[in-house]
Amino acid sequence: ESCKLSGHVDECCNCTYQDVDRLNAALHPLLRQVVRTPFFRYFKVNIYCDCPLWPDDSMCALRACSVCECEQSEVPPTWRQLEQGGQAAEEEGSCNSNTCAAELDGKVNSTVDPDTALKLLNLKGWRGFNNPWMAEGEGDEEYLYVNLLINPERYTGYAGEHAHRIWRAIYSQSCFRSGSSDSEVSDSSSRSGGPPALSPTSLPPDWCPEKRVFYRLISGMHASISAHISANYLLNEERGQWGHNLTDFRMRLGRPELRDRIENLYFAYLFVLRAVTKAAPLLARYDYVTGFGAEEDAATAQLMKGLLTSPELASSCPMPFDEGRLWKGSDGLALREELRAAFVNITRIMDCVGCEKCKLWGKLQTLGVATALKVLFSSSDCNNALPTSPALSTLALERNEVIALVNLLERFSASIEYYRQLSAELQGVEGVE
Ligand code: FAD
Repeated sequence: ESCKLSGHVDECCNCTYQDVDRLNAALHPLLRQVVRTPFFRYFKVNIYCDCPLWPDDSMCALRACSVCECEQSEVPPTWRQLEQGGQAAEEEGSCNSNTCAAELDGKVNSTVDPDTALKLLNLKGWRGFNNPWMAEGEGDEEYLYVNLLINPERYTGYAGEHAHRIWRAIYSQSCFRSGSSDSEVSDSSSRSGGPPALSPTSLPPDWCPEKRVFYRLISGMHASISAHISANYLLNEERGQWGHNLTDFRMRLGRPELRDRIENLYFAYLFVLRAVTKAAPLLARYDYVTGFGAEEDAATAQLMKGLLTSPELASSCPMPFDEGRLWKGSDGLALREELRAAFVNITRIMDCVGCEKCKLWGKLQTLGVATALKVLFSSSDCNNALPTSPALSTLALERNEVIALVNLLERFSASIEYYRQLSAELQGVEGVE
């Protein structure tokens, strides 16, 4: 049972915390298997980029911060081949970064056959092309492949003012400030301490449901990062011993007054789960090809099918989140534009994270959230109409988007498990109920 969490995760849906725990107990082992497959463990990312927002002052010098990049020979062969073949078509001007899904589809189709077009779309995923919730790259970034399994998200020692400045920049986005409409990234590093500790109960009363959703998504992602740190802590550097740190957990998530952070984690989990179940028809027939062998690729597709058709999905929480209730007001379009601009800024702020491994996971998770937002809200970028859910026939997900979305769900799922385990351990130690 969920430790001291009771009631519904969100007023819109019928899922209780206990439903989520039951559901997650069934999904978590499946997700763990899925993210270990070759398709899901290689992520293409640019982590050596400069911070576009303020002078890049410090990089984390700790060993735990560094990322081990893949040897060329380790990169899935089909992806390498596609990149070499795709380069030529790209240079012919078949795609450009400002196009939305429909336009991109059309242009690619006019120059190459549909199969290649789909593969080209997959190929383009690492730049966040075709995702209106991601900042556009300049096109000259240096990307590398990273094996996520040998670069796990855990304690790195990245902390203090540098890390706080990132979180402050994120939480001080204009959409999180009451009564402001400017959407510039602000670096409020002159203020000391962390961002203001907002909680769902103390969220400003003038916040509309859409802003609450956004705030809870970011806070839930922050809570998930915290859970991974406390559960995978460097306990003894000399002996290389990693494990649960209950003192750290208590400080970050384990106290009753921080319950809103956990509630936001559960909320974020359901939001991403809704995006995954909504995109299920597309994910079920996605081409999980790596070139490591037909059997291995087929096994990945089979695992995904098992995840997407888990009976627990229908029985425990059939409607994890109801996106249809958002953007209903007369200002729906303007509001979505404001929140989109803020989220794009947040994806830029990730370039300023001063620890490679934190940046890797920060970028993966923001691309995962951007993909969930795209699945749920971005059908109408071409015609400027009010946002509605995209029709699955026009939804195209790039390879890196699929990888980020599913890994993000696994992160949130693991964090819920960590929270349950560490809470129980903490209760045991403190002898409280
Ligand atoms: P922080 O987590 O830095 O939080 C700062 C302030 O934010 C808190 O004082 C509180 O007021 C508020 N706050 C905290 N949690 C929430 C929440 N869930 N919702 C709302 N408000 C909240 N460190 C690692 O060791 N490993 C990593 O992989 C890692 N990844 C990171 C990724 C990113 C993108 C960033 C920005 C930082 C990452 N860090 C990582 C650093 C880590 O998140 C903390 O900043 C650091 O451990 C210092 O923690 P802290 O206790 O000072 O509080």
